[in-house]
Amino acid sequence: MDILSERINSLPVSATLEMASKARELKSKGVDVIGLSLGEPDFNTPEFIKQAAINAVEENWNSYSPVDGYADLKQAICKKFERDNKIKYKPSQIVVSTGAKQSIANVCMVLLNPGDEVLLPAPYWVSYSAIATLAEAKSVIIPSTIENDFKISPEQLEGSINSKTKLVMFNSPNNPSGTIYTKKELEAMGEILKKYPDVYILSDEIYEHINYGTPHFSIAGIPDLYDRTITVNGVAKAFAMTGWRIGYIGAPEWIAKACNKMQGQITSGANCIAQRATITALNEPITKIQYMIDEFAKRREIIIELLKDIPGIKLNKPSGAFYVFPDVSSYFGKVLNGKKIKNATDFALYLLEKAHVATVTGEAFGNGNCIRISYAASEEKIRLAIERISSALK
Ligand code: GLU
Repeated sequence: MDILSERINSLPVSATLEMASKARELKSKGVDVIGLSLGEPDFNTPEFIKQAAINAVEENWNSYSPVDGYADLKQAICKKFERDNKIKYKPSQIVVSTGAKQSIANVCMVLLNPGDEVLLPAPYWVSYSAIATLAEAKSVIIPSTIENDFKISPEQLEGSINSKTKLVMFNSPNNPSGTIYTKKELEAMGEILKKYPDVYILSDEIYEHINYGTPHFSIAGIPDLYDRTITVNGVAKAFAMTGWRIGYIGAPEWIAKACNKMQGQITSGANCIAQRATITALNEPITKIQYMIDEFAKRREIIIELLKDIPGIKLNKPSGAFYVFPDVSSYFGKVLNGKKIKNATDFALYLLEKAHVATVTGEAFGNGNCIRISYAASEEKIRLAIERISSALK
């Protein structure tokens, strides 16, 4: 509509949320849809965290919090960064937000000017490019292939940098591919970035703990890059707290201050009860949530085994997160049950209509050959979903 701003008109709808909403709509009509589109743990928030929230309600934590988060939460985040990532941040370098998505949006809003370029190693999480668009910056996609485990090379990174490049967004473990860059690989990227002191780095580490064995490495741990790296994290994925909406950054103090200013005009501090519960989540040893990671690991094996048996699907083994990102391009141009499949979007829609399984098109993640399937669902649902997909593709 013409009356709406160009800003909103140029913004794509979030493909992950759109697919989830389509699945909900079908479900409400009585269709037995299996939702494997949204990346959200199917576990309940652990009891010890729920109890902390209940205590916070009873202790009357109901007022506005400081915009950048409670002081003791910021302390807990600093301790977490030291414990898990060996990075030292002061509380003045931390900003707590309403989910890691807001953290990312804050960073983009305070760093990007119209015309700046943002490098997105693909596949990238769907909202990166949309947020860059909102900030009037241009997304520059760096492609990867399934054969390379969806990793870009340092040479590709360097080849994409020019005088307009302002920000590069890394995401390891990656949503949607599950790829984890090793310390050595990130250090090799770091060697390139050291040569370009005007380029900032956003390292989205929200899937840090959903890791099946590759040691996690934080780019801010590279001393020469610490001063221009923003580390994003949150409690949604590891602690099954997606709806609680708590994300945070560790950043150079001047960037944290700018994000605080931005947030102060848009949302103020994040939800007070969720912040109190997050202190407990972060202060407890990470072993307390290992049971969820172990379960995801089991499901990863199951879904890979099942998908392997479907002809025409190319698959790699993700090292983290809870997604598989199969290449389904061999189906493009084919007619399935009277429906022509032109691309990954058609493929995902076909699966929704015919198999009643919700997935997400890879086009939304910058790779049009693939679809994303979340295995953050029960084993029973995964088995049934893949069985249905398999028969819909026959
Ligand atoms: N990050 C999750 C996903 O990729 C949640 C949905 C969203 O915010 O996009 O599915």
